[in-house]
Amino acid sequence: MKIIDLRSDTVTKPTPAMRQAMAEAEVGDDVYGEDPTVNRLEKLAAETVGKEAALFVPSGSMGNQLALMTHCGRGEEVICDVDAHVFHYEMAAAGVLSGVQLHTVRGLHTDEGLSAISDHIREPLSYLPKTRLLCLENTLNRGGGSVMSAEQMAVAYRLAKEYRLQVHLDGARVFNAALALQCEVADLACYTDSVMFCLSKGLGAPIGSLLAGSKEFIECARRYRKLLGGGMRQVGVLAAAGLIALQNTSHLADDHANAKALAEGLASFPGVNVNMAKVQTNMVMARLEDSPYPVGEFLQKAATAGVLAGPMGRDTVRFVTHRDVNAGDIKVVLERLENIF
Ligand SMILES: *Cc1c(COP(=O)(O)O)cnc(C)c1O
Repeated sequence: MKIIDLRSDTVTKPTPAMRQAMAEAEVGDDVYGEDPTVNRLEKLAAETVGKEAALFVPSGSMGNQLALMTHCGRGEEVICDVDAHVFHYEMAAAGVLSGVQLHTVRGLHTDEGLSAISDHIREPLSYLPKTRLLCLENTLNRGGGSVMSAEQMAVAYRLAKEYRLQVHLDGARVFNAALALQCEVADLACYTDSVMFCLSKGLGAPIGSLLAGSKEFIECARRYRKLLGGGMRQVGVLAAAGLIALQNTSHLADDHANAKALAEGLASFPGVNVNMAKVQTNMVMARLEDSPYPVGEFLQKAATAGVLAGPMGRDTVRFVTHRDVNAGDIKVVLERLENIF
């Protein structure tokens, strides 16, 4: 039985083209700035998101943390959504590495939330921390891969600038966001001072993320990357796969169509609740509130039937579509899960 793995879009294996490019990659010592493949990737990434410069980093978490470290001083505050990846899934690194405090806001990514950002910005009083950075996430992972529009980002950016805040975008899946919005990534990134995106998620590369921003910002982030032990040497072998990922994003449309088909199928099962309005990209959140099984038991039964998914909170299961599953696989997933229900 073929296991169909929908736990995350990080599970994709490098394509034959990627493996070939990795084998043939022109390389050099990237700490000396001498890896031509990394340099090409950083240049293409910067152009793609419409920033002056970009930095290749081992993970999205490192990219986000470098952004916090570069934008903020110790003891300063970062506003983010209560569902943000930087808050939940980065090991409290904001406090450990940068000494900043995350000021979480429920519903930050809604129209109401974005237009009320100033409610959360500290007044300039001697006994309050300074608010330095607004950190947005598009798509919002714990929001089921939901999308923030360019207009919404513009509102947030304008307000942030009024209060002299920097804006960082956790754009781990910003290519999915741009596709759903039928715009370019640069049309979203123009409302930020820095943006991180992952090659290793929907874009399907084995490893790596990019942090982009002004030339000065990236120079500083490059020093901090070395400080964190993220200075890599002949890392063109990875950048080569990243270049292919960044130049071939058309399969994301299939991922979105597959997620929609999966969501519709899941919603037809008894006891499964899917908020279809939130199925905007490559994720499906299925609430099991009236299902006969709690999440853990459901995931076990699904795994036994050859379908892997992940837990998202107490009553919800997350399915993520990606390059290594096709429309036929989604049909098989629904058949297997139907037997469980
Ligand atoms: C995956 C992810 C990251 C971090 O990526 P890693 O490469 O796993 O460290 C950051 N933000 C969001 C929204 C993500 O989904």
